[in-house]
Amino acid sequence: MAEKKTHNIVQTESTGAKPQVVQTKPAGNATGYRVGAIVLWLLAIVCEVLAVLYLFGKLEITFLPTLWVLIILIVLDLAFVIIGSQLWKKANHIKPASKKNPTLFWLWNNMGVIVACFAFIPLIILMLTNKDLDKKTKTIAVIAAIVALLIGGAASVDYNPISQEEQAAAVDTIEGNVYWTQFGKVYHTHEDCPHLNNSDTLYTNNVSEAIAAGRTRLCKTCAAKDSVEVDENGFVVAKDDATPVEGGDEVSDTADDGVKSLD
Ligand SMILES: [Zn+2]
Repeated sequence: MAEKKTHNIVQTESTGAKPQVVQTKPAGNATGYRVGAIVLWLLAIVCEVLAVLYLFGKLEITFLPTLWVLIILIVLDLAFVIIGSQLWKKANHIKPASKKNPTLFWLWNNMGVIVACFAFIPLIILMLTNKDLDKKTKTIAVIAAIVALLIGGAASVDYNPISQEEQAAAVDTIEGNVYWTQFGKVYHTHEDCPHLNNSDTLYTNNVSEAIAAGRTRLCKTCAAKDSVEVDENGFVVAKDDATPVEGGDEVSDTADDGVKSLD
């Protein structure tokens, strides 16, 4: 029988230090991010077109070996896809698409993944079918392009998508500042929420800025404390889904009822 192992148990000292609360800067305007995304995505496609022209001998680059030219163009292509997609995701969190048209909503949120496919799949096919490339160059370049497709696709997925309706429900319901952490996926309405205990730095702003920062859902502990209704994904449920309220005053009045006083 194995001997029972004794542990040396050390109680760590509590520093008692409160987390540093940092007010975030406003995320800015969605259109600017969208234009930036489209320009970068076009540059990605330009890199692909250059690689294709090079493959077919329409573009002469003599100072570098073939493999290097292809790898450099694939890496540039990938960089433009990834940065463009981050800007696009940011724009979608500032000004989300409506869920009323599910197809458009899906397309809008997955635009980066679609661009990644366009930016690599034609090139992969043309390299595979190209008869002039030597075997080693072809193998390495095709593998590089497939890896780039996978990385670019994964980096372009919005893992925390939000709809216009979900954003509006959160903005109407939650007043004042919310808090989030550097790597956290949700926002909190309470600075003293137990889930924030291990964080040295908290970021704070209003709920639309939290959503713009990619924290699209409300912490379930904070929601329960405030008696705010959230759906199974953590999105705030609109007060009255059936009848859209026209008057702005009525919206804020009904929003007050659901949120208990914080003190
Ligand atoms: Zn919380």
